Amino acid sequence: MKTPPLQRLIIRIQGVVQGVGFRPFIYRLAIDMGLAGWVKNTSKGVSIELEGSPEVLNEFLSAIESKKPPLAYIHKLEFARAEPKGYRGFVISASETADEKTALVLPDIATCRDCLREIHDPENRRYRYPFTNCTNCGPRFSIITALPYDRPNTTMARFPMCDDCRAEYENPSDRRYHAQPIACPACGPHLELWDSQGKTVARNDEAVDRTAELIENGMIVAIKGLGGFQLIVDAVNDQAVRELRKRKGREDKPFALMFPSLDTIRKVCSVSEDERRLLDSPQSPIVLLNRLENAVEHNIVTPAVAPSNRYLGIMLPYTPLHHLLLDRLERPIVATSGNLSDEPICKDENDAVVRLAGIADYYLVHNRPIIRHVDDSIVRMVCGQPQILRRARGFAPLPFYAASLPQSILAVGGHLKNTAAVSVSDRIIISQHIGDLETEESARTFAETIADFGILHNVRPKLVACDIHPEYASTAYAQKTGIEIRKVQHHYAHILSCMAENEVRAPCLGICWDGTGYGIDKTIWGGEFLIIDQFDFSRLACFRRFKLPGGETAVREPRRSAIGALYEIYGTDVFEMMDLPPIMSLSEIENKNIKRMLAQNINSPVTSSAGRLFDAIASICGMRQICTFEGQAAMELEFAIDADCPENSYETAIQQDADPVIIDWSPILEGVVADRRAGIPIGKISAKFHNAMAHAIVAMAKIANIQNVVISGGCFQNRYLSETAVKLLKNAGFIPWWHRRIPPNDGGLSLGQVIAVQRSLRRK
Ligand code: ZN
Ligand code: ZN
Ligand code: FE
Repeated sequence: MKTPPLQRLIIRIQGVVQGVGFRPFIYRLAIDMGLAGWVKNTSKGVSIELEGSPEVLNEFLSAIESKKPPLAYIHKLEFARAEPKGYRGFVISASETADEKTALVLPDIATCRDCLREIHDPENRRYRYPFTNCTNCGPRFSIITALPYDRPNTTMARFPMCDDCRAEYENPSDRRYHAQPIACPACGPHLELWDSQGKTVARNDEAVDRTAELIENGMIVAIKGLGGFQLIVDAVNDQAVRELRKRKGREDKPFALMFPSLDTIRKVCSVSEDERRLLDSPQSPIVLLNRLENAVEHNIVTPAVAPSNRYLGIMLPYTPLHHLLLDRLERPIVATSGNLSDEPICKDENDAVVRLAGIADYYLVHNRPIIRHVDDSIVRMVCGQPQILRRARGFAPLPFYAASLPQSILAVGGHLKNTAAVSVSDRIIISQHIGDLETEESARTFAETIADFGILHNVRPKLVACDIHPEYASTAYAQKTGIEIRKVQHHYAHILSCMAENEVRAPCLGICWDGTGYGIDKTIWGGEFLIIDQFDFSRLACFRRFKLPGGETAVREPRRSAIGALYEIYGTDVFEMMDLPPIMSLSEIENKNIKRMLAQNINSPVTSSAGRLFDAIASICGMRQICTFEGQAAMELEFAIDADCPENSYETAIQQDADPVIIDWSPILEGVVADRRAGIPIGKISAKFHNAMAHAIVAMAKIANIQNVVISGGCFQNRYLSETAVKLLKNAGFIPWWHRRIPPNDGGLSLGQVIAVQRSLRRK
């Protein structure tokens, strides 16, 4: 038999393919497949030439996408076939120009295995050195002061390299070749442990040991990490965790945890192979993991770390300092953002001593400045794929790609969990998570983040996009920029962000459910079904509207949503229904006041919000009347679901002749009230409610009769809802799309706003 003739394959790849371990990946893949040729960086991306049999070359092509490194993103892959040149072996060639700078700013990356080996090796000159890093790991985004990305343009500029480090930096075969932030004990940054007054009490290795002792003794230590301060306590110490809750003013909201190892995590949570990969990835995010049903948790973490929560948010150590500390402690720690409530995290030690006074007992600090705050990212698996819920460390500021437009557009996002975004030709850069724009501190960070775009991406926006909500601080900011403004409806932006990350083309049906968003009719929207056409959108349907007594107060008090919805059906009779928990929870005066508000239309705006419906059901079920953090009631309702009744559901009534079409939830509410009175367990009620909501999605998809269905909005952080909706849509022959790389919550708005403006420009 004749062997098939050899072929040469020429590949050009654009996207996030430099500084992310892409060339070594191609090298290993080619060697494994026995292919000859080379790979190199170019100004546009990566070039590859390979020789082998056509079948193996095809296999190689598909493996690039399926096996690429976690940080890599392929925007465009072009290839051509040619006559073989007779290559022997496979090599990584030198870049086209020796000093080529990529315009891409890379995220901060978790300590790699090679560096980890060095800090554990007593013979190595970086033994136990907390600032060890290399070409594949370490700080990037958090230390860059300007472009190009070069040591003088980072906060490492103040640490001149010693001869040993310089030799590594200049040697092309060294794994620290051109690694800008490299350092060693002789030339790099150092640790200090400060007391609450900012007085140094220990240095270097001793500072790590003392910190471990303090944590063992129940102290709260603020640690200067990669992108800001973290507050650390022993996660098994109930009293210490409660003390941290008290000092931080954080009643029930779950704390993030850092575990010393995967094995320890498996004692309290189930970890799938996908989840293990996420925990272990270069991004090293907080991963939301299912708690084991029968775990003997209390000797590993106290329940106070995440009261009545089905998940634990867990990460593995991601800097050498974390590794050293957890090696010593051999137990999980709470590692929550070093801030007050929802403010941006502290990043400077002198600032921390002031802002965290009264919270931290000690401060473990160092002298490598952090230029910009970068929180820990949060990821979880949904519909079999990772979904980012908070996008920051490890992911920001990697770009998204869209059709190229000459004008740069700045988008300022929304109000809660905010991000900003900017477009630069065919790239859209979304900022790291900023937080809620509620305080002066967050307003300042927000402005700094936008100023950053100018510094890091050398861009001057011609248009600024903002939400149509008249009272968002971000909208006020946009108005002050002096740049021409374009206002974008909240739910439209949500859907566009999901379309953009999935590259879905119009037309599609966009289903956007969240708590609150300003509608074009000036009422509060939040349960929206939008038809997205080529340039714009129309409102196909929404949930039946109801009044929210007290307006904004209802966000904190689910019982107000319940009473508003019940009032819509039963009128003032509801105030006599003393067996219903929301009514039961009212004092006599509250009962009278709320009744008056609703009857006389005082401070009772109408809403079509789906989020408030979830609140209403949680309240009627007697689960929660008042929340201590955003989304708490809906979360508890989700956690209560009895997974054994996937078929049971309440009905909805759809009024098709209305414009927009109305999805009437009154049969759901009546069903819940009846079931509650009949003593049906909450788990069953919750399952029936969730299923009814998912069925409403499919019913509307059938009415819209459009193949592509895009789901977005904070409600879809609810995993059961998302997975059920996706499953039912697929079964009914639709193609569902959901968020993976962009949060479904308001963190995704900025991307959607940029796209909205691009679409309106294209129309002209
Ligand atoms: Zn490394
Ligand atoms: Zn050195
Ligand atoms: Fe929203």
